[in-house]
Amino acid sequence: MSADHENEAVPNVMTYFAGVEQRVQDPVDPEGGTSMADLENVWGRVTERLRHDIGDAAWRNWIKPLRVSRLQDGTLTLEAGSSLARDRVSSQYADRLRVISAAEYGIVKQVEVKLAAPTIIENRGNDSDRPAADADGYKAPHGTVSHDLTAGLDPRYTFANFVVGKPNELAFAVARRTAESERVSFNPLFLYGGVGLGKTHLMHAIAWQIWRQSPGRKVMYLSAEKFMYRFVRALRFRDTMSFKEQFRSVDVLMIDDVQFISGKESTQDEFFHTFNALVEGGRQVIVSADKSPTDLEGMEERLRSRLGWGMVADIHPADYELRLGILQAKAEQMQVRIPDKVLEFLAHRIASNVRELEGALNRIAAHAMLIGREITIESAADLLSDLLRASSRQISIDAIQNRVASHYGVRVAEMFSPRRARNIARPRQVAMFLAKNLTSLSYPEIGRQFGGRDHTTVMHAVRTIEGLVNSDHAVAEDVQLLKSLLSA
Ligand code: ADP
Ligand code: MG
Repeated sequence: MSADHENEAVPNVMTYFAGVEQRVQDPVDPEGGTSMADLENVWGRVTERLRHDIGDAAWRNWIKPLRVSRLQDGTLTLEAGSSLARDRVSSQYADRLRVISAAEYGIVKQVEVKLAAPTIIENRGNDSDRPAADADGYKAPHGTVSHDLTAGLDPRYTFANFVVGKPNELAFAVARRTAESERVSFNPLFLYGGVGLGKTHLMHAIAWQIWRQSPGRKVMYLSAEKFMYRFVRALRFRDTMSFKEQFRSVDVLMIDDVQFISGKESTQDEFFHTFNALVEGGRQVIVSADKSPTDLEGMEERLRSRLGWGMVADIHPADYELRLGILQAKAEQMQVRIPDKVLEFLAHRIASNVRELEGALNRIAAHAMLIGREITIESAADLLSDLLRASSRQISIDAIQNRVASHYGVRVAEMFSPRRARNIARPRQVAMFLAKNLTSLSYPEIGRQFGGRDHTTVMHAVRTIEGLVNSDHAVAEDVQLLKSLLSA
């Protein structure tokens, strides 16, 4: 069998030799090896042939997880995810791999299997690491960088530290499933939700889990902002090849806050191609954003639709139970005693997002430790007066609908009804306009709350009222009055 292969291999050696020689001079690789894209390409063919030889099951277990890392001086280096896999491949398949590789690459004399180092490329924390501060040596041979994983991911952002409740249970479940399953299940996984609701926390948790479970898998986590920064830098240094290679050689690509590239066309373009290359190659892509794919304004249509192809899971604002659960968990972690009454008070009063909730708790905990006295609701209210004021200013869509309905003397039910009579349609449009102006809801979200109307209807309403405010004195006054009543 293997003798057959040797014979069969001869013409191939000749055919591929010329190509490889050319590749060796490819200026992309600083060390004169074969470029990564070519390597991967040929490696794909090598493994396909081996699959034929050894059968599907063995192939899936041992060969598919391997990574081709370089070809230099006749030595083809592969990376295995565990020492078990490395030993197994070396003892059982290396010979056959050498023969097939020699046929495919032309200049392979030896196959070497190494243990892969855990590789994570990321940006530190959420906001602290602005792109300008990026001083890493990110361009390394074959475009991979080995950062110490633990340096980049927040150690507190794990699944274990994530408090699960109704508003986030779906996102949590799919995040965990994605992290734990060996096969790519949801691709892409798209997590979205408002600010401070735990998207970054879940992203880090996925990265931690994958790293713990399969240290050989290359996980790349970074913000979309950083992705853009690197892309722009690559353009500036005419180095887009290694940029592409770096991003296309990972097993798992995680991009946080993808809305950041809204309106940035060439970055979107690059992201789109990277995205496709990875998904088509069976690699996992995980993306977070502050809106659903369809609501991402300023994003190319093809990218929006592509982002929605896999699993889309949203994180809703935390409800009272979840807020209280999070406060209890965090207070326990911090090992400070804060009376239940005070936690309940906080959970009631700070409804905006989990980050603010945490901020409030930290302030109270610090205070409790400083003064060494138990915190009361009164002292908490005092300490947090600024936060409490801000969160009571949040205006609900219910309040808007009620207020507008009573102002115009129509029933609240008309806000949701399909009727289009002018005397009802106009107040409804005003309410939509106010919803867009006074809340952070998107057009589709507003549409849903107005009896399931389409987002284009809401956009039309907003534009109509905008126009009237400038041309019709009565409408301008109504809007002004309603705004001040609602904001009081
Ligand atoms: P986002 O990325 O959605 O803006 P983050 O992931 O940065 O939000 O979350 C803000 C803060 O709230 C973080 O410190 C995070 O740990 C915490 N947090 C959010 N949701 C939860 C949760 N369900 N359980 C525990 N902590 C949470
Ligand atoms: Mg975030």
